[in-house]
Amino acid sequence: MLKLENIVSRYGRIEVLHGVSLNVNAGEIVTLVGSNGAGKTTLLRVISGVQPRAAGEITFEGKSIARMPPHARVAAGIAQVPEGRQVFAPLSIEDNLRLGAWTRSDDVAREIDDIYAMFPILKEKRALPAGALSGGQQQMLAMGRALMSKPKLLLLDEPSMGLAPLLIDQIMRAIVSLRERGVTLLLVEQNVTAALEIADRAYVIETGKIVLDGEARTLAKDDRVRAAYLGI
Ligand code: ATP
Repeated sequence: MLKLENIVSRYGRIEVLHGVSLNVNAGEIVTLVGSNGAGKTTLLRVISGVQPRAAGEITFEGKSIARMPPHARVAAGIAQVPEGRQVFAPLSIEDNLRLGAWTRSDDVAREIDDIYAMFPILKEKRALPAGALSGGQQQMLAMGRALMSKPKLLLLDEPSMGLAPLLIDQIMRAIVSLRERGVTLLLVEQNVTAALEIADRAYVIETGKIVLDGEARTLAKDDRVRAAYLGI
């Protein structure tokens, strides 16, 4: 579904991605793990088009999207849930969801109901400003907002960041349920344990390069991964 080939990206003169290749097949949960500053966020931003790529090719469903502006990539079926949620704090929860539907002209009410079914707490609080939600609830809202564009591929940037273990569990379960609804997921995580538990495959990125990839189950047992990321 998504294929990256030799992606290079820079901030000014500093190259932070040095030729990254990876692919995500339809229906998969793929996780990209790595420590702070490895380039995970940059890679997601290159996929959604908000960060330029200096070299390399990106294809989505067989077509090059490398030159498409971000809004066209959303219309093509790629949505990103940014790091740190970035909900519109003064707007109501329901208005935040509606904003996610800007690519669509059809009736969005059913979609909103679907999202409320997945995250009942959002329905309960739908008239409140998004800023009144807890961190975990804001993460649910950010995911809900991205889902309003009916993406085929959802890019999630550190959804577990700053959340208590119980909430991390809830978010991970929501990700699995999205896959069951036919959404393909690329998940960036520093919480390697949680990510490897739900993913089919994983890529490990270190200072802008993929150093390891394979089935998540296998990587969870890999000595290098265990030593570097699981503290074992
Ligand atoms: P984190 O988990 O901390 O977000 P990450 O793996 O997502 O880490 P990136 O945010 O992609 O890493 O950062 C990769 C490298 O690019 C880091 O060295 C970072 O300092 C640098 N970087 C990120 N954003 C910018 C920017 N706007 N300008 C300059 N350098 C940047």
